Amino acid sequence: MIIVLKNNKTESEVASFKSYLEQKYGVGIHVSVGHDSVVLGLIGDTSAVDEDSVRAQDIVQEVKRVQEPYKKANRKFHPDDTVITLANGLTIGSGSLTLIAGPCSVESEEQVIEVAEAVKSVGAAVLRGGAFKPRTSPYAFQGMGADGLALLKKARTKTGLPIISEVMSASQLELFAEVDIIQVGARNMQNFELLKELGKQSRPIMLKRGLSSTIEELLMSAEYIMASGNEQIILCERGIRTFETKTRNTLDISAIPILKRLSHLPVFIDPSHASGLPWLVEPLSMAAVAAGADGLIIEVHNNPAKALCDGAQSLTPEMFASTVKNIKKIAEAMGKK
Ligand code: PEP
Ligand code: MN
Repeated sequence: MIIVLKNNKTESEVASFKSYLEQKYGVGIHVSVGHDSVVLGLIGDTSAVDEDSVRAQDIVQEVKRVQEPYKKANRKFHPDDTVITLANGLTIGSGSLTLIAGPCSVESEEQVIEVAEAVKSVGAAVLRGGAFKPRTSPYAFQGMGADGLALLKKARTKTGLPIISEVMSASQLELFAEVDIIQVGARNMQNFELLKELGKQSRPIMLKRGLSSTIEELLMSAEYIMASGNEQIILCERGIRTFETKTRNTLDISAIPILKRLSHLPVFIDPSHASGLPWLVEPLSMAAVAAGADGLIIEVHNNPAKALCDGAQSLTPEMFASTVKNIKKIAEAMGKK
């Protein structure tokens, strides 16, 4: 971080500000005295330095960060890719392409088991299924709750597929004790109290990017979980809000190489919520794999027309099977195992 001080400050004012910064933030400080101004260069870990508070000091003219405000999620401090290993031995982020698939929401035992078996048979490695659903309307189906999680576990026992499901508040966490990956939905990406609680968990977290969040905000949310002790995080780009109306959201493909460059955490793409359209899931998935994604999370329903949530964007098991074939061609070309 670089701090430019206002003109005409006395030597003793500069010295006392320097020692204030050293003591408050535990950083080293390099002082350059120029013709017109004095510039302080902060040395060391500046992630805890409150930029706004520094800017509010009377002596300060300008503040500029030259280092990212996140540390644990930063590739600079952790050059190797993070590899997440699930209880069944499946690794995520180790150079392979991980396919997560399943219904938007768990609706019945038959539904979830039928979909789980179908997606497993063509290469899905993890089963998704919402039990607590963040719906725009309070009158829409809110998910089966604890019963939905119980059905997901049944499907895991039947198929061997690990399960992922979305938690909406810390008070639900007890119910997620046996869920393999806990999902944080786009709407909760900046629910900082929830993120801190998830930091105390020893299970992987899939953190979805907020509807209107920047890449840096996504990484800062990952930092929240990591700073509280849990470093097993999967980042997920799921489309952002733009002026475009042809798709439900706009898939930010550039987020993949940017996140891979800035962070060591695995990066997934959700082409279902990004597009809202089943026929777009295949091309977006192929583009995502070509851009370096570590995995995909795709909505599949055995009867999309009857789905209680997001049927309009769900693939049938047959569509998923043919999509996977084409995704695999790209994965092969990309040297994915
Ligand atoms: C979901 O995965 O079903 C979901 C609600 O996703 P998002 O939080 O990305 O909207
Ligand atoms: Mn959905």
